[in-house]
Amino acid sequence: MSYARWVTKSCDVYVYDDTYGGTICSTCRLNDGKDTLTKTHSEMVRHMFRHRMNGDIVPQSTITSLLHEPDNYPPMEPPPPMSWI
Ligand SMILES: [Zn+2]
Repeated sequence: MSYARWVTKSCDVYVYDDTYGGTICSTCRLNDGKDTLTKTHSEMVRHMFRHRMNGDIVPQSTITSLLHEPDNYPPMEPPPPMSWI
């Protein structure tokens, strides 16, 4: 389970892959304390750099993990029910 994979104690961000696809920066300081959702990890890495520019501590391991893990796309839609002739 990838939930809370990048959580460390000495860090100002809380990033995890959402169950429904995408990656979440939880209670994001750059988003008025609301969650920030990105579709891809590279978008989240850019977001992490914005945190750093704002003085937040983002561990390098968080960036590295985001860059190396495959993107968390939403689960496949179930196929439509078969129609019988
Ligand atoms: Zn954030």
